[in-house]
Amino acid sequence: MRLRSFQVRLLLWGWAVLLLALAAAFYYSSTLVGSELVRETETRSWKQLETVKWLLEEHESFAGEWAMDEWAKTLAAKMGSRITYIKGSDGRVIADSEVPFGQVPEMESHDNRPEVVAAREDGRGMNLRHSHTLGKDMIYVACRVSRAGGMPAGILRVAVPFSIVQARLDSLRINFLWIFLTVLLLAAGAGTYLSRNVGRSIRAFSEVARQIGEGNYSMRLRASPGGEFQPLARSVNAMAKRIEKHIQTIDEQRGQLRAMFEGMNEGVMVLDADGRLVAYNSALDEMISMPGTAVGRTPIEVCRRYEVQEVADQLLAEGGPDRAMAEIELMDGRTVDVSGVPYYENDGARKIILVFHDITVIRQAEKGLRDFVANASHQLRTPLTSIKGYSETLLDNPPAKFEDARSFLEIIVKNSDHMNKVISSMLALAKSEQVGKALQVSPVSGRDIFSRALDDLTPLGHERGIDFSVSMPDDDPLMVMGEPDGVLHVFHNLMQNAVKYSPDNGCITVEAKKQDGFVAFCVEDQGPGISKEHSLKVFERFYRVDENTIDGHGSAGLGLAICRRIVQNLGGEIWHDGYGEGARGARFCFRLKTPA
Ligand code: ADP
Repeated sequence: MRLRSFQVRLLLWGWAVLLLALAAAFYYSSTLVGSELVRETETRSWKQLETVKWLLEEHESFAGEWAMDEWAKTLAAKMGSRITYIKGSDGRVIADSEVPFGQVPEMESHDNRPEVVAAREDGRGMNLRHSHTLGKDMIYVACRVSRAGGMPAGILRVAVPFSIVQARLDSLRINFLWIFLTVLLLAAGAGTYLSRNVGRSIRAFSEVARQIGEGNYSMRLRASPGGEFQPLARSVNAMAKRIEKHIQTIDEQRGQLRAMFEGMNEGVMVLDADGRLVAYNSALDEMISMPGTAVGRTPIEVCRRYEVQEVADQLLAEGGPDRAMAEIELMDGRTVDVSGVPYYENDGARKIILVFHDITVIRQAEKGLRDFVANASHQLRTPLTSIKGYSETLLDNPPAKFEDARSFLEIIVKNSDHMNKVISSMLALAKSEQVGKALQVSPVSGRDIFSRALDDLTPLGHERGIDFSVSMPDDDPLMVMGEPDGVLHVFHNLMQNAVKYSPDNGCITVEAKKQDGFVAFCVEDQGPGISKEHSLKVFERFYRVDENTIDGHGSAGLGLAICRRIVQNLGGEIWHDGYGEGARGARFCFRLKTPA
């Protein structure tokens, strides 16, 4: 059922109260006026009766009953009332102003009329009733009259029509009705006008309240429909202000959370109490390429990994653990650690947060460390075994002549040198890979550093008749961003390798070229070169190209790995580039940035 509006109810109640008030006033006044009129008519009737009685007693004797009847008719016509004279002994009507004299004898005896009975007993009597003779309501007043006007003693009765009272009462009622209707109409108009005004204000009031309710918390209730609404308006305004502040705080926190959520390197997945996806961040999308319709689906549907679903199921299960983990391998070979924790909503619903942490680098580092230890052990164990073997031989069967022992001792020294080189290289590599080591990169002259390296290595080359041919832009210091020791180490290593693998009396070419923003240095020899399949691998730790390995030259396979690390630390690049036209041997190049 539709509730009536405040306006209509106000109007109806106003009308009802007004109606009741007017009805009460009408009833009260009509009753009062009615009884007042009756009393006044009674008084008037009595006065008329007294007058008629006096006139009758003063009247000389009538010539007969007809004379009295005529007198009564004349007097009654003047007074506007009915005059009847009733014989006292038998109640016979002697004269009646309303009945032709000829018919008077036929009138029934009035002896038992209430007013006549009362007059006979008490001297006077009154009665109000409907007259059948006249066909209207009359007030009858009667009194005893002793012989007068020559008539026998009897009862004089005067009847005044009551219709006068009735007519006045009716007119009063009609007037009242008009007043009533006019007042009602005026009240309806005023009520409608007022309630419309109030209704309009209430609508404006509730519109503002509605807007606040819909989230427009900056709205305030300024005008209120009436004083009674002021406390409500104040409360609503205070509430809106509080909510606005809370919403601001929530928005700020949500912004911070979103920034954290999106800024994380880890993928995050939020599941609801049914284990369906509610939200995820872009890191997760990048990690496992989430489908566009991921929200609302289960983990197995979006990442096709049963391990993730198992983690979610464990956490969602009644009495499940507070933490669950799994490690998954992605199609692209990355290793991801998935850990999940439950959390509880305000309503107590258990939800899940799954965090996807890419641990590929950690796993690779662990593998690298394992490989490194295995390689290093291998590198050291071989010469050590050899040293141990020859030493034991010398101890067990000491040769008589020192000359016989020389070759054994030379092998021991060579293997010791190799071990020394391996250990030095490992230390150098460890130094170059030190995490967090601040690099002092500054502009240095590539030409100067190369000159130092050339000075260092020229004697080594000359031992085998090897020449160095240098091709560099004239009078250019070839400034690069670097660190002198590091750059010198790279030159040393590349040039040493070139000498090592060059044929006797060969030529090593060193070039420097300026490219956009870089200076590239290349060292080329005439040795066996490096096939394409090894060209990238030679930069890996402990990698050696077996067919190139020269007996007697201890090779740990770490030199190029150290060079790569140093050049990368300086913001440059290193590569093997020995496949140009006319290329014969190996050609290693590296480039460093020129100062800005
Ligand atoms: P090492 O420090 O033991 O010399 P490197 O890392 O410098 O090791 O070299 C790795 C491998 O690359 C060597 O074992 C060798 O086979 C190959 N190599 C390096 N330089 C040259 C070169 N100039 N010519 C041919 N092979 C080379």
